[in-house]
Amino acid sequence: MSTAPDITSVAPRDRAEILAQALPYIRRYHGKTMVIKYGGNAMTDPSLQQDFAEDVVLLKLVGINPVVVHGGGPQIETLLKRLGKKGEFIQGMRVTDAETMEVVEWVLAGEVQQDIVGLINQAGGKAVGLTGRDGAMIRARKLRMADQADPSREHDVGQVGDIVGIDPAVVKALQDDQFIPVVSPIGFGEQNESYNINADVVAAKLATVLQAEKLLMLTNIRGVLDKDMQLLTELTPRRIDELVADGTISGGMIPKIAGALDAAKSGVNAVHIIDGRVPHALLLEVLGNEPFGTMIRSH
Ligand code: ADP
Ligand code: MG
Repeated sequence: MSTAPDITSVAPRDRAEILAQALPYIRRYHGKTMVIKYGGNAMTDPSLQQDFAEDVVLLKLVGINPVVVHGGGPQIETLLKRLGKKGEFIQGMRVTDAETMEVVEWVLAGEVQQDIVGLINQAGGKAVGLTGRDGAMIRARKLRMADQADPSREHDVGQVGDIVGIDPAVVKALQDDQFIPVVSPIGFGEQNESYNINADVVAAKLATVLQAEKLLMLTNIRGVLDKDMQLLTELTPRRIDELVADGTISGGMIPKIAGALDAAKSGVNAVHIIDGRVPHALLLEVLGNEPFGTMIRSH
């Protein structure tokens, strides 16, 4: 991808002008919560990782409350491969047997979460890593997944979780202080068993229970594309139904769009799927005045 422009080449006068232009947005969003889904594929490039961490810290410093929910598909895939296991997906969900669940927990709550926490801290923030177990945040049960074409058929995807409820108390406590919560999408069941939950689904539900101002989903593509690979800048619930039904929306975009739509319908003011491969994608969306990616409408 393109590299960031050399900031030393921006004249101080222009820099001041740029900052001044961000003021209306900073005022509008001051004190508001933004849930950010940090996509697995968009978070493997070191320079983009650093941009992301800087953006999150900057939002926090201007009085916005960012809450990060991360995925980790590519990292899970890498470790599964090393263990001689092959990842399998049904309708965008990772089939999770007991061994895969262990790998998911190691990778997400260990490596990936702590990498993000470290990056944010290095950028000057105070990040705290959490899984859904912390503060008894994400209660889950086994997902019963109906077949898309034939809803009377059910797929067994193992320890994939369906969210029963989210208690956001721990997130609120952290963000009311100066901390930036970083959430791994792992839930717990009635027997204290672990569930692997799609990170988009967690981000969407968390945005809803927090009544976030924005839900931003960073991914590895420009946004939602139509059959001719053109970017769809706005989507209504009806259009989404059509695109899913005719197969234009498939794979990982299915849970993403479903979560996005749920959040939009449940009172999250602005829901956007944006290109995490663009340097400073987050700041561009929040403080820029050009539409970027796909906006999901509630009606
Ligand atoms: P993430 O890490 O962001 O969750 P996923 O791989 O789960 O990434 O989901 C994004 C992927 O969804 C895209 O890379 C693309 O391959 C796929 N996809 C399926 N249908 C569409 C569509 N209509 N528009 C854009 N991407 C789509
Ligand atoms: Mg995904």
